[in-house]
Amino acid sequence: MKKFALAGNPNCGKTTLFNILTGSNAYVGNWPGVTAEKGEGVYKKGSEEVDIVDLPGIYSLSPYTSEEVVSRNFILDEKPDCVINIVDATNLERNLYLTTQLMEIDVPIIIALNMMDAVEKNGDKIDPKLLEELVGLPVVPISAMKGTGIKELMDRAIEVSKTPRKACTVLHNSPIAHLVGDVAIALEAKGVAAPLFHAVKLAEMDEIEVNMHRDIIHMVDAFKATFADDTFGTDIEAIIADARYKYITSEYVKAYTRNPRSDDSKSDKIDRVLTNKWAGIPIFLLILFAIFHCTFSESFLFSASWGLPSLEELGLLVDGEPANFGVALLACLYDGAIYSPGVIINNLWNDVIVGNLFGLVNGWVEQIPAEWAVGLINDGILEGLAAVLSFLPQILVLFLFFSILEDSGYMARVAFILDRIFRKFGLSGRAFMPMIMGFGCSVPAMINTRTLADEKEKTATVRVIPFFSCGAKLPILTAIAGAIVMRFGWGNADLITYSMYVLGIVTAIVSVILMRSTTMKGEVPPFIMELPAYHAPLFSSLMIHLWDKTKHFIKKAFTVILASTIVIWFISHFSFDWRMLSDEQINESILAGVGKLLQPVFTPLGFGAQLTEWGWVFAVAAITGLIAKENVVATFGTLAACVAGAVVAEDEEGISYVVAMVNATGITVPALLAFIVFNMTTIPCFAAVATARGELPTSKSFKWTIVFWLAASYIASAVVYTIGSAWWTLFIWLAVAIIVGVTIHFVNRRSKYAVV
Ligand code: GDP
Ligand code: MG
Repeated sequence: MKKFALAGNPNCGKTTLFNILTGSNAYVGNWPGVTAEKGEGVYKKGSEEVDIVDLPGIYSLSPYTSEEVVSRNFILDEKPDCVINIVDATNLERNLYLTTQLMEIDVPIIIALNMMDAVEKNGDKIDPKLLEELVGLPVVPISAMKGTGIKELMDRAIEVSKTPRKACTVLHNSPIAHLVGDVAIALEAKGVAAPLFHAVKLAEMDEIEVNMHRDIIHMVDAFKATFADDTFGTDIEAIIADARYKYITSEYVKAYTRNPRSDDSKSDKIDRVLTNKWAGIPIFLLILFAIFHCTFSESFLFSASWGLPSLEELGLLVDGEPANFGVALLACLYDGAIYSPGVIINNLWNDVIVGNLFGLVNGWVEQIPAEWAVGLINDGILEGLAAVLSFLPQILVLFLFFSILEDSGYMARVAFILDRIFRKFGLSGRAFMPMIMGFGCSVPAMINTRTLADEKEKTATVRVIPFFSCGAKLPILTAIAGAIVMRFGWGNADLITYSMYVLGIVTAIVSVILMRSTTMKGEVPPFIMELPAYHAPLFSSLMIHLWDKTKHFIKKAFTVILASTIVIWFISHFSFDWRMLSDEQINESILAGVGKLLQPVFTPLGFGAQLTEWGWVFAVAAITGLIAKENVVATFGTLAACVAGAVVAEDEEGISYVVAMVNATGITVPALLAFIVFNMTTIPCFAAVATARGELPTSKSFKWTIVFWLAASYIASAVVYTIGSAWWTLFIWLAVAIIVGVTIHFVNRRSKYAVV
């Protein structure tokens, strides 16, 4: 099968094109550095099937970053049948810089002139025919986002791949043209493939090349001895870069006509506010809060305390239940206050769809004659699944907002603002991108840390990624926040969830400061990122993100979580001597035994020995969360029927399971918050742990990472629990923090002098 590679600058639309060609849905984000590893897929719609490889984005073929090395080695060593060079047409000159390097390799190339929709919208003009003549490579205008020009691109690429191409260069008029020519001949005589490319790199004294061709380097040295450029002296790398740009700006741009009336100051104006030194961060926190308010608030418009009539007062309820279907629908949006969009969707899903569906299935299952099977299916499996599935809509709403922020180009700005602060803590803004991805799922986020060049920065980032609460942890937050509001009438669900997210971020920052000033010391690499263009998020790409999330969630619910609930049900219904237990007896079960054994460990965090005889469920839930974080709430669901027999709340939501647990165990609000924090910061799920193991440089650093997670979660939740229970303990923690800070400061100073 033929193999085509997609190469281009970061953020030029490679992955978007890759997804269209192969029908996959790899991660597309509006910021540079999303694709850290190459992706592979198959294009099936042409005259023949073609293997497509999505390479990481690069600005040049030098060996400075891991992306450059991956892409360069792929093109040189794997010799694809055709390189599809994607060029962002809205940034023509800068993108063609890479093209001038690619054309020096003897490989068929075709230029995909992407983002033509945006060019047209700006009112600019690019003549693809003329560009093709000027560059000497086939050019096909496309829009990967709109899906136009794709067929033509692939037809021509297949055509182009049939004949080998001889390398050419734009350096033929530059002062080093002779040198490059002579070295290329020498390399060709040695039988080196792609001699022109290697000759240019050798002239640049590129490290990899110099080591490979030590026998020829004397030619470059001899040349340098007799040569000095007016502006760049003997810095041949600079001379070459300059020659490339000069050629592009004098020749290639003839194909481009700028809209005389265009004005790009609009996005500059927006940026002046959004990336403002002082306002940038408050604006970000505000936007984040607005998102949580829209997702979780039960008093989105008006508030229950404003005295608007509730459904009860309106006389629409019969025995506390909606009088008819119309009222049931109304109850999803309003009860004394108008709910936020997230809550409305959530209510519709739970009250109208999931509730009825599961009710129906429950009814069927009850026909089964075996009582234990009814218990297993209805109380164990279905309750567990319902507890998790009931949070799907809110997860999706939250991710919809995150995707909008990301696609519009705003998140890249946030990375830029945060770089200023992160730098003081020992991280670059680059580390922020994987962290933000962590809000979705830690696994791709950890993989994305490959874009961090510095090993210690990378390790520190992998460790704190789980603190950016992922989608699977959301049910824990939502269920417990909801239960706190429902059971204690305390606070707002949106405010609690928001604070917990922010607390996760704060824990991450504190941990990074600690690591970077003790075991992970090092310089912060410079962070250079161009800000991507703002654009209205595309509906279809938002839907792809959401569909991805849904698929992932459903798949997990019906595999890992389903299996876990079955296991949990069994070990909670059998005793150590293999007696089957009734619901009332589960305190004698294997699960309870294990839970009780672990329980004392959690006493300083508020969910240990101080609880009633049912208290072990919290210990057990925290442990099952190590398999998948959704399991925490699923465990409550599975055990609710037994533990809370008498106190199960009337509706089906996961929140009421937690309320039942609260009633049965007597856990306090600070302990519930500590429980959230513990789950958010402790060892992440299985999949994330395996990924961390692969991404961390050594197995020793992996072991320390596990220790770090345990310690971080234990300390963070102890802080929350003690301060929440007795506010004055705040001073004790502050004193500890000051002592630690001062000690680190002095130790660092001493060792500095010791080195000098
Ligand atoms: P990559 O970094 O090169 O893989 O780029 P992505 O595929 O992740 O895309 C970067 C951004 O450009 C995303 O926000 C895309 O939605 C956007 N994008 C990609 N192709 C087009 C296009 O043809 N037109 C426009 N207007 N935007 C595009
Ligand atoms: Mg990409």
